Amino acid sequence: MKEFFDRVWQNGDIYAGHQQGWYCVSCEEFKEERELLPDKYCPLHPNRQVEWRDEQNYFFRLSKYQSQLEELYRSQPDFIQPETRRNEVLSFVDRGLQDFSVSRVNVDWGIPLPNDPSQTIYVWVDALLNYLTAAVEPDAEPTIANTVWWPFDLHVIGKDILRFHAVFWPALLMSAGLPLPKRVFAHGFLTKDGQKMSKSLGNIIEPFDLVDRYGSDAVRYFFLKEIEFGRDGDFNETRFVNILNADLANDLGNLLNRTMQMANKYCDRLVPNVNPADLSAENILKSKGEQLAKQVAEAYERSPLVKPASSFSP
Ligand SMILES: [Zn+2]
Repeated sequence: MKEFFDRVWQNGDIYAGHQQGWYCVSCEEFKEERELLPDKYCPLHPNRQVEWRDEQNYFFRLSKYQSQLEELYRSQPDFIQPETRRNEVLSFVDRGLQDFSVSRVNVDWGIPLPNDPSQTIYVWVDALLNYLTAAVEPDAEPTIANTVWWPFDLHVIGKDILRFHAVFWPALLMSAGLPLPKRVFAHGFLTKDGQKMSKSLGNIIEPFDLVDRYGSDAVRYFFLKEIEFGRDGDFNETRFVNILNADLANDLGNLLNRTMQMANKYCDRLVPNVNPADLSAENILKSKGEQLAKQVAEAYERSPLVKPASSFSP
């Protein structure tokens, strides 16, 4: 932490300044006035009003990295995924980056700033640096030279913390002279019956309970089919059961049943030995099969969860 901070400091990227604005304590973030809901509520915490803060802080020169970040997004179009989130970040950066404060006063649990222990490091700088500090072997001295798994191939994060990962974090790393992660993928929010899940409402989806009652394949099937990775999605148990019944029991179950009957009747209950080369190009099953294999392979390559270097052949 200190080493990282020193590098950024030596680079002239931290300065003392004054900050005032609307602050959401739940987000731990200053909000722009135009982002707020009526009556100064946080858009991500609609039951929490933002507070007016006016304090002396240390700032990071994010504005200095405007063109370097733009170049990063241009030269690595898949750095931020999915595309909708990438566009969000591009338009945020396009509006012009403002320096952000990296310290707070009057927080007694934070890590003191190396150059001014009266202030502590802002939680969002602190949190991002965990990616480096956690990448050190347990017994090794916690230095940047001892980080073994950095840079990561992929950060999978919630869409509400995309800005920190796709803008602030790369800029901090550039300032510290460290390599960047290869990709940032922001996933959506999962709601239950159209509502945000919360402990106070008690409307949490219990995945183990679902698997116990319906089986892991059913749970996997529903989420794969119903919620495109990266987008918001909703879980409703009635709908879940209806989809399982319609798709798995009726459609797939019926298909299996009829196939078994025909295998029994026409093929002696054996899988016939067919050479694909003997089938004509017009054979529907053949062309569908070939097309599908290609589609799957391409989709697999595009998946953010597959390392760019890997390959898949049908
Ligand atoms: Zn908030």
